[in-house]
Amino acid sequence: MSRHHKVAIAGSGLAALATAARLHEQGVKDIAIYANGLGGTPYIAAINFVLPENPYGDTPEQYAKDMLAAGYNIGNKELVKEMADATLRGYELLCRWGVTFAHNDDGSIKLRHVSGHTYPRSLCQTTNLIGVEIEKVMLPKLAEAGIEFHKHAVVVGLLKSEDGKIDGFTVIEDGGEPFNVYAPVVVASWGGVGNLLGTSTYPDDVKGNTLGMAKQAGASLVDLEFIEFEPMVMMSPAGAVGEPCPTAMLGEGGYLLNSDGERFLLEVRPQGEAGAPKSLINHEIWKQVAKGKGNPHGGIWVDLRHVDVNVLKAYPWFYNRLMQHGCDPNKELLEVGPMPHSFSGGIKVDRNYESDVKGLFAVGEACGGIHGACRCAGNAASQATLSGLLCAEGIMRTGELTREISERPVVYHRDDGVRARYLDELQRIAGKALGVYRNGQDLEAALKSVDEIINAPDTSRDDLTLQTALAISLIAKAALNRKESRGTHNRTDYPEASSEYEKEFVL
Ligand SMILES: Cc1cc2nc3c(=O)[nH]c(=O)nc-3n(C[C@H](O)[C@H](O)[C@H](O)COP(=O)(O)OP(=O)(O)OC[C@H]3O[C@@H](n4cnc5c(N)ncnc54)[C@H](O)[C@@H]3O)c2cc1C
Repeated sequence: MSRHHKVAIAGSGLAALATAARLHEQGVKDIAIYANGLGGTPYIAAINFVLPENPYGDTPEQYAKDMLAAGYNIGNKELVKEMADATLRGYELLCRWGVTFAHNDDGSIKLRHVSGHTYPRSLCQTTNLIGVEIEKVMLPKLAEAGIEFHKHAVVVGLLKSEDGKIDGFTVIEDGGEPFNVYAPVVVASWGGVGNLLGTSTYPDDVKGNTLGMAKQAGASLVDLEFIEFEPMVMMSPAGAVGEPCPTAMLGEGGYLLNSDGERFLLEVRPQGEAGAPKSLINHEIWKQVAKGKGNPHGGIWVDLRHVDVNVLKAYPWFYNRLMQHGCDPNKELLEVGPMPHSFSGGIKVDRNYESDVKGLFAVGEACGGIHGACRCAGNAASQATLSGLLCAEGIMRTGELTREISERPVVYHRDDGVRARYLDELQRIAGKALGVYRNGQDLEAALKSVDEIINAPDTSRDDLTLQTALAISLIAKAALNRKESRGTHNRTDYPEASSEYEKEFVL
């Protein structure tokens, strides 16, 4: 069995939906989406757009400045500018496909102030997560428009032609036999890599081996060290562990406290906690933990006791989960700390969101090198929307859609024994060396161990294991080369390097 499409999209998160929606609007027919879940999209609480009616005088220029500053000024200025310039069009795209956003009582659109932004510009829903709304309204509309959805399909490898172009992928659907899906345009929208490290906020369907798949296909990868650690993820009680406390809570008046009850962020950011970039928060948490002023789980506390309960209830997924597990945010301090949450690295793309391997495009968390060391909060969702929009328009410029494709035999390796032998071990190695606190010695040891697994004679018998090992090895190499604490992680052997970059956040 095999299938042919004009465009084959791997993943069905927001980036995939935005790409498919914009392609459809431009008249492209025969678009198919292959995925094994919904990825991080249903968990999206905040999504940023600069709208003309923003009451704070916000502009796309200011938005671009904020993005570059949050990324420690090593983002791609051209792509950031294009993303900021397209902000209104991204919002309009979602509206055209049925997405609605919360409004205030006076009819104005509700804007929240999330981490890393000069102004409130984050859109939301107050009765549910905006990501749930996006999937709920866009999936049926796209299906109605003729986009094909394959909901239980795992992409296991990319197909490369003899002349070096990507022309499809191999898929396993409903646990059956692998088969090839051919398309002159393949869009990687398979999300990020946090699960490579073990505990993270990521859902299970986003495994991170896809980074190794892109490497096997010969695509250039970029900024791989920049796994983003969300600073305020719940560390207790057991039933709420892994739930991100929205950084918007700092915009609602929440404080960060150390074990002495001090608002430690004010030492470096006297203007207050609201809008503080995630990387700054993480570095300051680290300092408190290092001084012995952290919580018993290696983080700090968030104090929301003084925040109006109705404000807290407008984040129902968060408030209800805490209450269900016996933790009342209006009565007690919350134990929070950093956890892998998103990824700023990935497949290197040009202005059309095409990789340097023709035919392979990448959007959302699958692409990298745009934001630099870190995104502003809510910008993963914005990027998923805007990269999808810009990629769909870029695809039309490249002329790839008319390329002829020739079929070939399916190549796929699976060995459950190899998986059992190495996958847990790989996760353990990555979790230890690539977490929020890193040092050269651990990274070198990790690299050595992972490379031994890559070169072991049995590893090549299992594609998932090899791709996972490749992904971890590449991230470890990039992390070893980044001899500074730039980004949301900390290089404990280069602790001072961060301060130089942080100055611009605090003034
Ligand atoms: C708990 C949580 C809360 C978050 N909150 C926010 C927020 O408030 N604001 C914000 O901006 N960002 C947030 N993020 C990040 C945001 O969810 C992601 O960055 C965003 O969803 C990326 O969109 P995407 O389409 O690129 O990837 P995803 O939404 O992750 O989708 C990836 C897709 O690829 C599929 N896939 C993966 N591997 C394969 C494979 N091998 N074969 C086939 N399909 C595959 C998955 O099943 C899924 O369909 C949050 C993330 C989490 C986990």
